[in-house]
Amino acid sequence: MATEFEIRGLKSSIEGKEILKGIDLNIKGGEVHAIMGPNGTGKSTLASALMGHPKYEVTDGTVTLNGEDVLEMAVDERARAGLFLAMQYPSEITGVTNADFLRSAINARREEGNEISLIKFIRQMEKKMKELEMNPEFMHRYLNEGFSGGEKKRNEILQMMLLEPKLVILDEIDSGLDIDALRIVAEGVNAMRAEDRGFLIITHYQRLLNYITPDHVHVMMQGRIVKSGGPELAQRLEAEGYDWVKEELGIVDETVGQA
Ligand code: ADP
Ligand code: MG
Repeated sequence: MATEFEIRGLKSSIEGKEILKGIDLNIKGGEVHAIMGPNGTGKSTLASALMGHPKYEVTDGTVTLNGEDVLEMAVDERARAGLFLAMQYPSEITGVTNADFLRSAINARREEGNEISLIKFIRQMEKKMKELEMNPEFMHRYLNEGFSGGEKKRNEILQMMLLEPKLVILDEIDSGLDIDALRIVAEGVNAMRAEDRGFLIITHYQRLLNYITPDHVHVMMQGRIVKSGGPELAQRLEAEGYDWVKEELGIVDETVGQA
């Protein structure tokens, strides 16, 4: 079935404060959508709400993946249904190695009795780590513990490659990456572009989009998508910043939820 991810009128609150004020987005398999916007406009909140983070209460709207109600699903069910989020600030988990974590994640998405064999898993992981120019020792390191910012981001992409999700959300995957790491991460993403896989790429800066050409670009302000366009919109934002959007729309403070 062709992938179709639909967000309709999504509203979300944190500790009773409304941050997302009605998001509409339709991502089809094969498409890359970029969400851009200044800090504090609700971008990460959207990612967290879509993944089912318990702190982010959904108060209105619908989210479906191939017609299935995502909001009804528990976090692990969302992952099993094919949603994947590379977090802006990945957590460190002491005592769980990267390899253990990834193999469990892969097997959680498979039927009982159909788990990936250790040999096959190691082989795949080694291959992908090589593509991402990661040191093989990261396989046996505790998850994200002591990883540099760039190493964490590569590790998120490694997870994406091994899990082969249907809908990939990358939250500021470019932050803290030098230009070489950025290129490697972008190549990893581009290699995963496929007819049955959609991407939602959240980014503050346009530079990642020099390497990953989006089909659609959306600007987020005040917890809403206030403007949408093609790749040329990202280029204009790079050249001119966000002020012209604010002026055009009569927005004074683009942030949301600030006290
Ligand atoms: P962006 O990713 O666009 O920079 P965020 O979604 O992180 O923006 O934040 C939007 C608003 O929601 C901010 O006012 C922020 O303080 C608030 N917010 C986000 N996450 C939390 C949280 N876990 N607890 C409290 N407030 C939060
Ligand atoms: Mg953010």
